[in-house]
Amino acid sequence: MVFIRDGEVAVPGEPLCIQEEFSPGDNTSLDSQGRVIAKVLGIASYDKSTRTVSVKPMKAVQPFKVGGQVIAQVRSIQDKIAVVTILSAGGRALKHPRTAIIIPRKGMKEGMKDVVGVGDLVIAQVATQFMGVIGLSIWRPGLGVVLGVCDKCSSILSKAKMELICLKCGEKHKRKIVPFYGNMERIASMLEVMPG
Ligand SMILES: [Zn+2]
Repeated sequence: MVFIRDGEVAVPGEPLCIQEEFSPGDNTSLDSQGRVIAKVLGIASYDKSTRTVSVKPMKAVQPFKVGGQVIAQVRSIQDKIAVVTILSAGGRALKHPRTAIIIPRKGMKEGMKDVVGVGDLVIAQVATQFMGVIGLSIWRPGLGVVLGVCDKCSSILSKAKMELICLKCGEKHKRKIVPFYGNMERIASMLEVMPG
């Protein structure tokens, strides 16, 4: 029984699997219930050939450097923040997508829902990283929504002057978009997706 997946972040004390499944490797130990637990904050790694599980310490793993650019998809929106899944970082698709948070800019008056929408693809910059939680910024010019999705009918939104419009249902949407909004070729290259 595996409790978290390969490549996911484990926090100290978190159970990784039962001993029968994988034996404890680097940065892990056994608890009283026969479970292998993480000893450090890091990335869980299950080695099927040696049947061992280890944790790579977070400090050794720096895929998301502060200042680096990522492409992410918006999953949910709260008042002033949005939860996203990072799909690619530094122009490379991720093997293991990571959860991150778009953090509000200073003195932000509008709600996050007037900036991004659920399902949108955004280009963002890593602003903070603390205890494995990645904070993203989209506030500089050139950062923001590269492809928007209608929250009524899930169609791709079209750019119309200062706003986005759904050609299917007519809904208008407020977003912070990038100058190359909707340029599929550029979006594909950022996601490291080969056309065709
Ligand atoms: Zn629509």
